Amino acid sequence: LMQIYRPLNQVGFVYREIRQSLTDIEEMFKLLDQNPEIEDRAGAKGLRINGPVIRFEDVHFHYDEDRKILKGVSFEVPAGKTIAVVGPSGAGKSTISRLLYRFYDVTSGRITIDEQDVRDVTQKSLRAAIGMVPQDTVLFNDSIAYNIRYGRPDATDEEVREAARLAQVADFIEALPRGYDTEVGERGLKLSGGEKQRVAIARTILKSPEILILDEATSALDTATEREIQSALDTVARDRTTLVIAHRLSTVVDADEILVLRDGQVAERGKHQDLLEQGGLYAQMWSRQLEASEAEERLARTRRDP
Ligand code: ATP
Repeated sequence: LMQIYRPLNQVGFVYREIRQSLTDIEEMFKLLDQNPEIEDRAGAKGLRINGPVIRFEDVHFHYDEDRKILKGVSFEVPAGKTIAVVGPSGAGKSTISRLLYRFYDVTSGRITIDEQDVRDVTQKSLRAAIGMVPQDTVLFNDSIAYNIRYGRPDATDEEVREAARLAQVADFIEALPRGYDTEVGERGLKLSGGEKQRVAIARTILKSPEILILDEATSALDTATEREIQSALDTVARDRTTLVIAHRLSTVVDADEILVLRDGQVAERGKHQDLLEQGGLYAQMWSRQLEASEAEERLARTRRDP
C-alpha cells in the first residue's frame, strides 16, 4: 500500500505547489502548454526594459524536424508601435507569438527585447513584461472579479471595475444579478467567446504590461461584438509595444506595419494602403474577406426580411 501511497502523496504535494505558485495566468498556460525543455540559463538575468523594442532576427523554427514552420523571419516592433501579422491559416502566425513568449526556443536566429536575447533572461521576468490575450481564454471556476483581478492581485474593487469598463465588459457584468460576484467557468455562468476575451482584456489592462501580444480569436464574432472588442484592444494597445496576430483583416487596418506571412517567410510588409496598392497576397486576402462579409450581411438581411 505504501507503494501506491507515496506517489499519490507526491501528486498531492505537486498539486499544492502548483496552486500556490499560480501567480499569473501565463503560469497556467505554461503548465498546460509549456515545453519542459525551456529552462532558465545558468546566470539568467531579469529582463531590463526601456521602451521596449522587439526584434526577430532571421528566425527559423520547426516543431518537427521534417516540417519547417518559420524560414528566416526578420522584423522589428518599435517601442510603442503595433505590428500585425497576417497570412493564410497554418502560416505560422501564432507560432511567432509563442516564440516571443518563449513557449519554444528558436531553431536558429534570435529574438531580442531591448537587445536582450529572450533566451538569456529569466522566464519570470520575460512573462512579467508581456501581457498575452490568447485566442481562447481559460477562465477559473471563480467569480468574475477574481478572474479580472488575476492580472494584478492587489488591485482594488474600483480598479477592477475600471478595467472592466475599459474592456467594454462592465455593462454586461453589472446587468447580471450577482454582478462581479457571478461565478463563471465550467461550474458557473458560461460566457461567450467574445465575453471571455473581454474578461481577458480587462485582466491585461490591470496587469498593464509593457509588451502586448494579442492573438485574435479565429472564431467568427458578430460585427457589434467585434467592434467592441476592437475598441477594447485599442485601449490596451495604445502606446504599448504590441504584436497582433490577426486572423481577421478588419483589425489590422490601423497597424503601424503589417507583415504578411507565407510559407514561413515574410512575403509582403507595409501599411494597409500600401499593401492594397501592391495588389499582392494581402490585397487578395482583403478582397476575399470583403466579399465574405458582404455575403454574410446579405444573408442576415434575408433572414431579417424574408
Ligand atoms: P491559424 O490562422 O489557422 O491560427 P497560424 O498561422 O497561427 O494559423 P500556427 O498556429 O502558428 O499557424 O501553426 C503553424 C503550423 O505549425 C501549423 O501547420 C500547425 O499545424 C503547426 N503546429 C502548431 N503547433 C504545433 C505543435 N505544438 N506541434 C507540431 N506542429 C504544430
